[in-house]
Amino acid sequence: MAGLRSIAEEEVDPIQKFTEAGLTRAMIVMAHPDDNEFVCGGTVALLAELDWDIHIVVTTSGNKGTKEIGMTAQQLAAIREEEQRNAAQILGAQEPTFFGFPDGYIENSNELRGLIVHQIRIHRPDLVITWDGFRPGFNHRDHRRTGRATYDAIYPAADDHLYYPRDKEEGLEPCRPSVLMLAGSNEPDCHLDISKVMATKIRAVMAHSSQIGDRDEHAILQRYRNRAIEEARKHDREFDPEPETDALVFRESFRLIRFD
Ligand SMILES: [Zn+2]
Repeated sequence: MAGLRSIAEEEVDPIQKFTEAGLTRAMIVMAHPDDNEFVCGGTVALLAELDWDIHIVVTTSGNKGTKEIGMTAQQLAAIREEEQRNAAQILGAQEPTFFGFPDGYIENSNELRGLIVHQIRIHRPDLVITWDGFRPGFNHRDHRRTGRATYDAIYPAADDHLYYPRDKEEGLEPCRPSVLMLAGSNEPDCHLDISKVMATKIRAVMAHSSQIGDRDEHAILQRYRNRAIEEARKHDREFDPEPETDALVFRESFRLIRFD
């Protein structure tokens, strides 16, 4: 366990660093309602504790994510959007924005990039979190394309006024976020200790009741414990925690890109 704590202690807390540097606004661009909670819910809760203004943008409404016979895509979209709204509230984020593209059909299109640029120019985030769309290996196409559309929106479009010039008519100015954090990366270089907000993350995950089946809070926490143990063992082969009693370090990891 000592080895485990030392991994986290060696790192300077990037969120603290960003906050001290005056960054205060974050935007999370994800493909499906629940992506945010699973991959960066702890990070959002940490940002909220530091009084950041946080907007979650979801490109689809997750309207294929069911095995329930008789459920329509429209009913499911309404359920999942409501679950995402509840989860955002639990984490301390603002009301989410849904683009409503059909689940499974995301394209890195001019239309999608324009919508993301518009959100960036409205909310003016210092920090954006999205999927790592360049991750090799198996990945959901909506994750891949939402991730790529988000970086294409940040650079160069959102900061150049000749891209999507109609935003100007609404009084929106160009904007370049300072930091991009890519979730689900196979080469993460930024590891955040989310242990102190783990209970909040689990509550937010639980808000997605249409997606978690009969798993209860305990089962979900156990899954994260197993992952944390696996991670710790990579650094300390001898690591052998007592179930339930040893404190584990829970982390969310990202690939960090800076624009300044
Ligand atoms: Zn997803």
